[in-house]
Amino acid sequence: MSLPSISFFDQVNRSFDKAAALTDHDPRLLVQIKACNSVYRVAFPIKRDDGSIEVIHGWRAEHSQHKLPTKGGIRYSLAVNEDEVMALAALMTYKCAVVDVPFGGAKGGIAIDRRAYSQNELERITRRFTFELYRKSFIGPSIDVPAPDFGTGPQEMAWIADTYQALNKEDLNGLGCVTGKPLPQGGIRGRVEATGRGVMVGIREACDLAEDMKAIGLTRGVEGKRVIVQGLGNVGFHAARLLRDEGAELVGFAEYEGAIYDSRGLDLDKVVARRQETGSILDCEAEIKTPNSQLALEWDCDILIPAALENQITKQNVDRIRAKIIAEAANGPMTADANEVLLKRGVWIIPDTFLNAGGVTVSYFEWLKNLSHVRFGRMGKRFEEEAYARLLDAVEVATDRSFTDRERFFFTRGPSEADIVRSGLEETMAGAYLELRKIRDSYGNKIDLRTAAFICAIDKIALCYGDLGIFP
Ligand code: NAD
Repeated sequence: MSLPSISFFDQVNRSFDKAAALTDHDPRLLVQIKACNSVYRVAFPIKRDDGSIEVIHGWRAEHSQHKLPTKGGIRYSLAVNEDEVMALAALMTYKCAVVDVPFGGAKGGIAIDRRAYSQNELERITRRFTFELYRKSFIGPSIDVPAPDFGTGPQEMAWIADTYQALNKEDLNGLGCVTGKPLPQGGIRGRVEATGRGVMVGIREACDLAEDMKAIGLTRGVEGKRVIVQGLGNVGFHAARLLRDEGAELVGFAEYEGAIYDSRGLDLDKVVARRQETGSILDCEAEIKTPNSQLALEWDCDILIPAALENQITKQNVDRIRAKIIAEAANGPMTADANEVLLKRGVWIIPDTFLNAGGVTVSYFEWLKNLSHVRFGRMGKRFEEEAYARLLDAVEVATDRSFTDRERFFFTRGPSEADIVRSGLEETMAGAYLELRKIRDSYGNKIDLRTAAFICAIDKIALCYGDLGIFP
């Protein structure tokens, strides 16, 4: 397999080095934090539906075991290679640290274009890959826990869980071997949209700070901000939907086959429905349409959300980028060189190490649910509702007024699993953003948010190694 032209892992390490230079940790410890601890490369045959045999190539990288299990998605894409999974695993380590999710970082992938395989073939590939991971102890609720990523979703996660459980009949916690599962197979409410929701919350927090917005010539708040989204998959679609619900104006979308733009705003639901019908975004009504999907990155907007793959903004196109805010929903969508150019131009970059952490945050909740064997809210919901009702009764007696049935329903409703997940996710994302802003402030506003995120992660991981007594 040929090496990528831009090493993604090098790009991540450049961000690490930039931040590490500002810390005073032992250089030997920094070397350990940066290193990718283990990579498993596997090739296995599968039988295609036409009876032919094909060799499939897959990888799993565990970047850091400073906390266990390690955690990270599995992607299906022709661009998958060893460098990519190492980079993505490293990003997972830093991301988990930034949002205080107690996992080390990992990532896996299979070098296939999923559109070229039938459902049965995808099942055979997924189950065999799981078996290979199991054989080498690269999967398990206390070892390494995959999740969905580019090209995978709840269906693949269900196959992984089923295969793992078939091999581990005695493991009571077997369902916790993978997250992002469908609800009936041990999934959690809110996981499908979690990364997109986290992206929305992260952007909302960023736009809420009037001082930062003023510095880039924007007003406070998400409302009315013009947004372009590259990639209408799991992350891009839900981020766009939720930003629209917050009042943002969606003016551009890019997909594989092309990009569309309309200064009057685009109807997300109509675009998605039309694309499902005809297979192309270019069949939607819009002022501008082009088969060159990369052009969407260069169109005028307030917020550009790359939500597809890495290395989209590079030295080649960075001078033509016009967005004022770049919100990195995808992992590594810009190279380190492009990042520096944009920072010099004053573009506000909300980094992937923070912004797309909503997925792993809710995966963490799913894992906790699997280990505790009980749905969030099940034990306390009714008790809370009864307590609120008693409170309302007391208020009624004290004030001599009666609440309507509607008011009673509203005031006494106890939290469901979906409520708890959403609240935990918003609390995590909002809290993490403020933490990064605080770190940035502590350096006299002389560092960018990505560097703040890396400093935040390095400090926490270093503390963890220190606590373990590995580097006394
Ligand atoms: P996905 O497969 O659901 O969606 C990706 C979308 O991008 C697809 O619709 C695809 O057609 C489109 N696309 C591919 N190449 C494109 C191009 N050149 N131009 C425009 N569109 C293109 O994947 P996803 O899960 O949404 O992941 C997207 C990104 O978000 C990846 O970088 C992934 O690592 C990151 N991420 C995903 C999650 C998650 O929970 N799924 C969590 C964190 C980060």
